[in-house]
Amino acid sequence: MRFCPGVRMGEETVRIDEGAKPEISELLCTGCGICTKKCPFEAISIVNLPDELEGEKVHQYGVNGFRLFRLPYPEEGKVTGILGENGTGKSTILRILAGELVPNFGSETGDREEVLRRFSGRQLYNYFSELYSGRLRVVRKPQHVDALPRVVTGSVAEVLQRVDERGMWREVAERLELENALGRKLSSLSGGELQRVAVAAALLREADVYILDEPSSYLDVVQRLKVARLIHELAGNRRVVVVEHDLVVLDFLAERVHVVYGVPGVYGIVAGARGVRRGINAYLRGYLREENVRIRGEELKFEVRPPASGAGGELMLAYPRMRKSYNGFTLSVEGGELYRGEVVGVLGANATGKSTFVKMLAGVERADEGALESRLRVSYKPQYLSASFTGTVEELFAKLELTGDSFFESELFRPLNLERLAQKAVRELSGGELQLVAVATCLGREAEVYLLDEPSAYLDVEHRLRLARVVRRVVEKREAVGMVVDHDLLFIDYISDRAMVFSGVPGREGYASKPVDMRSAMNSFLRQMEVTLRRDPETGRPRVNKPGSVKDREQKLRGEYYYS
Ligand code: ADP
Ligand code: SF4
Repeated sequence: MRFCPGVRMGEETVRIDEGAKPEISELLCTGCGICTKKCPFEAISIVNLPDELEGEKVHQYGVNGFRLFRLPYPEEGKVTGILGENGTGKSTILRILAGELVPNFGSETGDREEVLRRFSGRQLYNYFSELYSGRLRVVRKPQHVDALPRVVTGSVAEVLQRVDERGMWREVAERLELENALGRKLSSLSGGELQRVAVAAALLREADVYILDEPSSYLDVVQRLKVARLIHELAGNRRVVVVEHDLVVLDFLAERVHVVYGVPGVYGIVAGARGVRRGINAYLRGYLREENVRIRGEELKFEVRPPASGAGGELMLAYPRMRKSYNGFTLSVEGGELYRGEVVGVLGANATGKSTFVKMLAGVERADEGALESRLRVSYKPQYLSASFTGTVEELFAKLELTGDSFFESELFRPLNLERLAQKAVRELSGGELQLVAVATCLGREAEVYLLDEPSAYLDVEHRLRLARVVRRVVEKREAVGMVVDHDLLFIDYISDRAMVFSGVPGREGYASKPVDMRSAMNSFLRQMEVTLRRDPETGRPRVNKPGSVKDREQKLRGEYYYS
């Protein structure tokens, strides 16, 4: 209030009613932006929205609060994907489409009659009139599956039986590899198991609308594709709405997508429906042509890397054949070589020893047979992150002597937009925020070998894409070696020069192949899963072929599970 030119002129541009939060009058504010610079907490954002959004506001959370413009339309018989950065309103959209939140169009409360009036003459009118009159049955899989044990009691088998309206709970449990978990209570399940129970429980119900919020979180790459296939089959000719950050999964699942863009926490705009291929391509390009909006400075381009890349450079590290056993689990690793400047992707199901292998390279675990001898400096980001540091992100970076390092500033701090986290306490970061900080500290240290275990976990699509660029650039610029375990196939495909594949029986025995060229690695990995991938001609990104399609059959016949 002291700095606002309006207030200084005697206007009520900013005012505080007794006992209430301060309010900015959106009518009187000129948008000069002085208050946003003066506020030490960066609590204020002043945004000039384009005029064409006039009358398109669907929901607003209170005065000066987040607002959502436009809505996606869940078409009958189609899977509609929603794609966008966190904080731009995706969960709000799902709550509206599920009927849990009645949009208020910017007024204080939502009113169903008003919703019908606003959408009259539009496709959404039928949707809402059926929804509000109880003719649409909606089933929703929540985003935070870890909260399920608190509200759902009983064993997995009991839960699935209770919701089963299709008479196929055993079959669904088997297809999602839940047989061994059937007798267990929900509270004893891992995140990945809970996710599969939640997806199964949603699909076992007979509904008109299935709303699935992030079905691939916590799942390994094999399970992601299984879940996607099952959703495809069981959703049949209903309406399905899915929010998903793994672009290979989304591409496979959805037929049409709505990109949601805006400023996280400030506003979100739902772009018009696009076919899934065009929608994802536009998102990767960072430009929505029809809307004439740039959503990202840079485009993400996929290169088809020649088979020989990586190998042929300077040998950095050769590791021997190794073995490691824990109670009941044995990992056998084929000896391999890593070359300067390359990123090696690591693919495989959960519980086949990927993290154990990475820990052996990091020197955190010792092999029982085959010792690794190397004097290289290794920087390692573990799969499970702990936020033990008491202090802010800025203090953490200062303690690790990263602050002021020009490489860190230009290659990590700025591209990952860490400024906005600087003042936050490390212990209070969300999963995704902690992940970004952990990756930045790992890559910020000077080292010859960077080991990243599941860096894309908890990240939204936008941060995965940014991170993919960052990982490649850092490894190239530092002339180091990167080894990255991840379950997001698009992410792995973008960053990797070569890859290694883990196979075996999860939880019992694992085998690690040596790093080989992408094409051979992906071929052997995809063959295990009987999935084929082709490249999108426009962006070069990998796409899953629909099972049984002409391309799928042709590629399998030729033994070409990757590329085409
Ligand atoms: P997304 O699902 O894309 O991450 P959300 O729909 O959860 O986005 O949230 C969009 C923004 O709306 C959030 O950043 C938050 O600021 C705001 N918001 C969400 N729910 C509420 C609520 N119940 N009350 C006030 N603000 C909210
Ligand atoms: Fe005042 Fe608006 Fe300028 Fe902020 S942006 S200082 S509220 S006029």
